[in-house]
Amino acid sequence: MSPMNGARSVRAILTFWYTAVLVVAFAVFAGAVYLYLERVLLASLDQNLLEETDWIGRLVEVDRTRFAGNASVEKLSEDIERRIMDHFARGPRNYVVILTTTGGKLLYRSGGPTAADLAPGGGSADTSLVRSVEEPGRGALRVASRRAPPLVITVGYDVRATSSVLEHFLTVVGILLPAALFMSLAGGYFMAGVALRPVHRIAQMAERITADRLDLRIPARPVNDELGMLIRTINTMIGRLEASFLQIREFSLSVAHELRTPLTILKGEAELALARGASADDAQRLAVLTLEETARMARIVDDLLTLARADAGQIIIERAPVALHGLLAEVHEDATILAGDHQLTVELVRNDPVTVKGDRGRLRQLLRVLVANAVQYTDPGGMLRLSCTAGASDVALAVEDTGIGIPSDSLERIFERFYRTDQARERARGGSGLGLTVARWIAEAHGGRISVTSTPGAGSRFTVHLPRTPAA
Ligand code: ADP
Repeated sequence: MSPMNGARSVRAILTFWYTAVLVVAFAVFAGAVYLYLERVLLASLDQNLLEETDWIGRLVEVDRTRFAGNASVEKLSEDIERRIMDHFARGPRNYVVILTTTGGKLLYRSGGPTAADLAPGGGSADTSLVRSVEEPGRGALRVASRRAPPLVITVGYDVRATSSVLEHFLTVVGILLPAALFMSLAGGYFMAGVALRPVHRIAQMAERITADRLDLRIPARPVNDELGMLIRTINTMIGRLEASFLQIREFSLSVAHELRTPLTILKGEAELALARGASADDAQRLAVLTLEETARMARIVDDLLTLARADAGQIIIERAPVALHGLLAEVHEDATILAGDHQLTVELVRNDPVTVKGDRGRLRQLLRVLVANAVQYTDPGGMLRLSCTAGASDVALAVEDTGIGIPSDSLERIFERFYRTDQARERARGGSGLGLTVARWIAEAHGGRISVTSTPGAGSRFTVHLPRTPAA
């Protein structure tokens, strides 16, 4: 999928969600308004009906003496009937007014025809009551009744009038909803497009950055927003890629260089021997040289293979108990033989009896690198000191010499592949600059670390810290 297609579908998804959220919010809002309106209208209708019954109550109060103790009254006075009719004729023609005696005898009825008995059922409390009554063919009536013995005053109102307000409201919502839907679709699509435009630009610029153009970066945004962060992240990633590309290039150059030197020497010597007509001595010398140089190349290739397989996680480090004091005693013996050729003395200053879990062969390889270096970079008459010191949680294996030392600006770099100090290059052509890289890998593969302190011209001390119980 091209970045454009991806962005387009993101735009569609954004638009969809934006619209969906907006429509749901609109529907919830309209529903809430509808319910609220319905309640308010009903409450005000009830209030109004009660007021009307009150009004009639006060009106008939005047006639009360006529009713007092006279349950057989048949009719209201004409004056009161007229006043009631006048009063309700002024408003909308949706009222029904019924006056009965508490005994149920009809005294007065106004308004449209109504079949249902709107008078409240039994009960004699002097109370007001509001209820809904279904009126066949007419719809629902909201009815308020007031008992004012000996009369019961009932006023009903056709709720279709209030329903029509709600129907109007629903019509408006019905018109507005599609309009809102359309507007949010268009607006959402537009806004998503605006928001995604910089993403398109980033994608286009990122596409121009290839393996050959890793020096290019995506221009930073003037604002420090999410996209600015994305650009920084991509740029940092490209930076890391560039660094590792450079590292690989340098590494290939170093490998080629390191292998080329011995090959050049061998080729030169062989050509010379051929040109001169090789004597038995020459042939002997050539054979020795060939052996030395091929051994050196084999060492380089071995170390490179070890490091490459270590990088790929293909080397399994054993986790067997290793008695470090025994190992150091062995290394001490080897070192003494090696150092003898260079007129150096080797001292085992401390050898705590301690066991760690690890790979004996690899640990021996590590110590040999340190000892070989100490011998290599120390002048005759110098001294090597080996020690194994057990701490509470780790063990420190140290190889110290009184050699040429390492300049402070090289201390960090000597563990890098192929790095050699200038002094080392002048002094010994044999080294490859891979020994300490392998040594560091072995220390770290055991959950430990390797460190160095050095005084140029006075000597160096390499210390390997190994945990007594390595992490799983
Ligand atoms: P090599 O010894 O083959 O050159 P290493 O990786 O073992 O490679 O060491 C890297 C560099 O570290 C050496 O070239 C040398 O400059 C420096 N170095 C290592 N050990 C010592 C030491 N004991 N004294 C002085 N310099 C050292």
